[in-house]
Amino acid sequence: MAAAGTLHDAFIDELRDAYDAEKQLIKALPKMAKAASSPALRAAFEGHLKETQGQVVRLEKAFASLDEKVRGKHCDGIEGIIEEGKSVMEEDFDDATMDACLIAGGQRAEHYEMAAYGSLIAWARAMGHTEAAGLLEQNLAEERAADKKLSALAEGGINRDAASQAHSNGDSEEAKPRTPKKKAASRR
Ligand code: ZN
Ligand code: FE
Ligand code: FE
Repeated sequence: MAAAGTLHDAFIDELRDAYDAEKQLIKALPKMAKAASSPALRAAFEGHLKETQGQVVRLEKAFASLDEKVRGKHCDGIEGIIEEGKSVMEEDFDDATMDACLIAGGQRAEHYEMAAYGSLIAWARAMGHTEAAGLLEQNLAEERAADKKLSALAEGGINRDAASQAHSNGDSEEAKPRTPKKKAASRR
């Protein structure tokens, strides 16, 4: 009978998952950059693409520090987030709304990565894998910064621009208050 897997085995598994997630994002980020209308948003995605390439290198160093072969294991979670992003990019939204949606999708990816790295770092520290923990912390810091940058872009004008076109048909609550009945009917 095989011995039960340990936290170390789970850690290596999750490291492979994170490695695969970063590789998937290296393919997705250029598409998000291309779909962005705001030059600042496009630059943010392109900048994070460069960082993501560096994150892959750090993960390779983490594998080496643990005497593990560099190997990915398909990350279903990030695949799902990327698939949702692709669906949004196929929509016929106005430019500012598309940018707002790209930010929302990008932030889903960042938060997923932040959660994954948070656990990986805690496990690495608990097992005394100091070098790997340090490398993972650098990746986490970049994910946090990317998330903050996306928030700043959204709050710095993109959401306002998108909202300004949201009720251009005079359908805003300010322009035409809805009766409770009509409001209920419009709910999906
Ligand atoms: Zn270990
Ligand atoms: Fe990443
Ligand atoms: Fe990221």
